[in-house]
This record gives sequence, C-alpha cells and structure tokens, in this order.
Amino acid sequence: MRYVVLRDDDTNALTPVEYLDRLYRPFLERKLPVNLAVIPEVTTKATMANGQPEGFLLAQPKHGAERVRLEAGSKLARYLRSRPLYEVAQHGCHHEYCEFDLQSSQEAAARLDKGRELLIQAGFPTPTTFIAPHDKISRISYQQLARRYKVISTGWFELRRLPLSWWPKYALVKSQKRPHWRTGKTFLLSHPGCLLSCHRPYEGMLERVQEVIHRQQLTVLVTHWWEYFRGNKPDDNFIAVLHEVADYLANAKDVRVISFRDVGDGKAAMN
Ligand SMILES: [Zn+2]
Repeated sequence: MRYVVLRDDDTNALTPVEYLDRLYRPFLERKLPVNLAVIPEVTTKATMANGQPEGFLLAQPKHGAERVRLEAGSKLARYLRSRPLYEVAQHGCHHEYCEFDLQSSQEAAARLDKGRELLIQAGFPTPTTFIAPHDKISRISYQQLARRYKVISTGWFELRRLPLSWWPKYALVKSQKRPHWRTGKTFLLSHPGCLLSCHRPYEGMLERVQEVIHRQQLTVLVTHWWEYFRGNKPDDNFIAVLHEVADYLANAKDVRVISFRDVGDGKAAMN
C-alpha cells in the first residue's frame, strides 16, 4: 500500500472560501482528507525572498490592519469546521519571512504557543502538525517543535539545523536514503518539492505525481490554493489537473490518502 498526504499551504483569514471549495470539493466528496497548513494570524505585509508580496495575499483587509487572525465566527472558520475531512495544521504564526529560522528559544516558544492558541480559539482541535513558512527551521525551533507537535512537515532536512542529539539517527536515515523519519515521538516528513505548481508544465503533471507516489511508501503532496487563482482569476486548466489527481487518488487500489494526524498516530508505513 502507498500512502499519500495532501497538503495545501497558506490558508489564512483572507482566503476566499469559494476558492478552497472549488479546489477541494471533489476530494471531500470522495472522502479524501485534505490537510490545510493554516496561518493563525497572517501579516498583510508578508513578502517572499525577492521582496514581492506573498501570492496568498490575494485580498487585503478593508481596515488596513497589519495582521488579521482567523476568527471563530468567520465564514472561513465555519466552513472549515463544517467539513471534518479538512485537517488544520499550524503554518507558523504570522508567516513572516523565514519566521522560524530563529535563534531565541523564548521567541520560538512564544510564536508557536500564540499560533496554536489562536487556532484553538478559532474552534479547531489542538494542532498536532507544524509546517514552517518557507520550510526554514533553526535548531532552536526544532527543539521547541518536538515538544509540541507529533508531525513536522518540511521540504528537506539539513544536518546543521538539527539538534545535536538527533544527529546519529539522522545520519542513519540519510545513509539509508529514507525520506521520512522519527525522533522520540515526533515524525519528520520531507516532500518531493511542489509537484502541483503553476510553475510546472500541466501536461504530464498527473503522471509525475503518480511516479513519485509509486517510488516511496509515503508521499506528502504539496500545493498552494492561491496558485490556482492568480490575479483572482481561476486557472481552469490547472484546477482540472488537481481534479484529475483527486480522481486518481480515489480510484487507485494501492493508494490510500491519509491525514497528518493519521501519520502522527502511526497509521502509515514511512519508508
Ligand atoms: Zn507558506
């Protein structure tokens, strides 16, 4: 059996419900769980490495606030809570640039706890999965993460960023070329890059996804909702590819789609 975790990044208080619903309704209707990496209180000034505003800021708040939190009574929070197949993972706290590439344990702890508390206040279960903005995690942040989360999902692992006590285990994992591993109670999952991206050719995208899924036992498939609605216009061709993936995942006999919570509960083989 192959396992797939579908991860969509950057849902935040300014994300239009209609966008998520258009993308993921076919998954939910087929009973496939969708893991959303949710920003608890997004900064409206978020920028990428090149200084450009982040693509997920497709809307700005009317009142010009610098940060907007996902409120329990908002249309988005109500929509997400009403569909239990959406699983909310914590995506940083404000999504500032490389927010968890931190050198202060107090600051890392404070940001993690604030983000977690905000998601709980918004009516979601205590998050057990953490995804760092820009996939950058310092050694100090890893230590704080391992105390709080069962699953850390990131792009790749770098020895120099890991706590020293994790090094022997990681050396072994690396020598065996395993994509995912575990230290103590924490599962550490890598992903094969964003296969579902508007920056890649749409033709052959499904085949590429299938190939990667069959190469390993557990694949984290990463995508970003806002890439399907650049400039607030739906990219129908890209959306069609995502829905082909939904069809494939629902029908493939040897593939099971699970949630990060399932991984944290030890329900998937991880090689
Ligand atoms: Zn992000």
